[in-house]
Amino acid sequence: MRPPLARDVQDLLERGRDRQLRLAVTGLSRAGKTAFLTSLVNQLRHAGLEARLDLLPAAREGRLLGARRVDQGDLSVPRFPYDPAMAALTERPPRWPEPTRGISELRLLIRYRPTRRGLLGGETRQLTLDLFDYPGEWLLDLPLLGHDYASWSRAQWQGLGPARREHFADWLAAVAELDPAAPADEAQLAGLAERYAEGLRSAREAGFADLQPGRFLLPGDLAGAPVLQFFPLPGLDDGATGKPAPESNLATLTRRFRHYQQKVVKPFYREHFRRFDRQIVLVDLLGALGAGPERFDDLARALGTLMQSFDYGKRSLLNRLFAPRIDRLAIAATKADHVTPEQHPRLVALLEALLAEPLKELRFADVPVKALSLAAIRATEPREVTQRGTTSPALRGTLLSGEEALLFPGEVPGRLPDRDFWHRQGFDFPAFRPPPIDGGALPHIRLDAALDWLLGDKLT
Ligand code: GDP
Repeated sequence: MRPPLARDVQDLLERGRDRQLRLAVTGLSRAGKTAFLTSLVNQLRHAGLEARLDLLPAAREGRLLGARRVDQGDLSVPRFPYDPAMAALTERPPRWPEPTRGISELRLLIRYRPTRRGLLGGETRQLTLDLFDYPGEWLLDLPLLGHDYASWSRAQWQGLGPARREHFADWLAAVAELDPAAPADEAQLAGLAERYAEGLRSAREAGFADLQPGRFLLPGDLAGAPVLQFFPLPGLDDGATGKPAPESNLATLTRRFRHYQQKVVKPFYREHFRRFDRQIVLVDLLGALGAGPERFDDLARALGTLMQSFDYGKRSLLNRLFAPRIDRLAIAATKADHVTPEQHPRLVALLEALLAEPLKELRFADVPVKALSLAAIRATEPREVTQRGTTSPALRGTLLSGEEALLFPGEVPGRLPDRDFWHRQGFDFPAFRPPPIDGGALPHIRLDAALDWLLGDKLT
């Protein structure tokens, strides 16, 4: 044992240290970010009271005393709309909160009792938790930094398979009319860019996820700005184009592309991403299973791209440009309450199979990463149904229409689904209404496991 004096000094040092953690939540649209962050804040605010956080040791041991909101550090970032989200959830009937569309932030001050009490009366400690929420679509833009306009155009055209083309029919017809060498016509370029963005939006509605540029889908405060008025041009062969006239369509699009790289993509990484300590990536795997094989493969591609933002390999684009410092990552399959509990391990296995390559890279680069399944806001309850002497698991919940349902939504495959799987079995995950809440903490599944991984070590 160390002498008491050394322990006191240690204690003082500990208390003087800046105890702060910047935790970011991301995922593609509808992955469940807003629900997750709302529930996370709700659980911590109810910690020590009604929240059920048994998988978080600080809570289980009664050391987590609670959390309150305080003014955030960066005043230029919008505040995460926690109050409107809770208002929607406590309406009658309850509604899901409106999703956020850009980056937002919320700061919590967590009070807890450390595992070891100091002699100087250090009974309670505080951790400042900065929470950030931002669209995963923005991370799809990282590879764009490794391109020039011509190579990016070529890559986008190559990716335009038959099923995607349908969504871009209008734009394809119009862009064929554009002469790259002609003097730039602002109105024509704006019109074409809008059609391109419409194509992206329509593809996303249809369940495609691997879509660039990310800000065209979620422009935040850049909506309508010329920096978002570009698109890939056809026929830009390697080196064959020569130097375009400065006021031509081609030169204008090239300038805008560079501006987008420098003034939109890079600042996000530099000013926000690089400063996150920990990160959770949410994935709506069940939604993709329900949407069929093409969308499922597309999600896999999009996640592969998205995960490049966590590739810490020395030679990775990310490291060369930004030297980030995330020291822990969680990847979670959301809305696990859409399947019966005995299927949850398979959901995690499927997530790991889908992300096998990026996970291998991360482990190789020594970034601690954990895959899990969770429901931020549990809308169903597990039940058993007995029919003709056989008992099987089922779910009970209220559909969005208000109708009560008792159902078995389908089996989650424990590995990547093959052709046989898609033929054999359809997936139908109905959307459920959020559960009624009587002022206590929101019901969840394994949100406490995510919390333990993401901040448990800071609460010891
Ligand atoms: P975001 O676009 O990533 O912020 O996604 P949201 O948090 O808005 O979630 C999108 C939709 O998914 C919600 O409106 C809900 O219908 C559903 N959802 C999100 N989380 C859960 C959950 O834990 N359980 C269930 N049953 N549905 C969820």
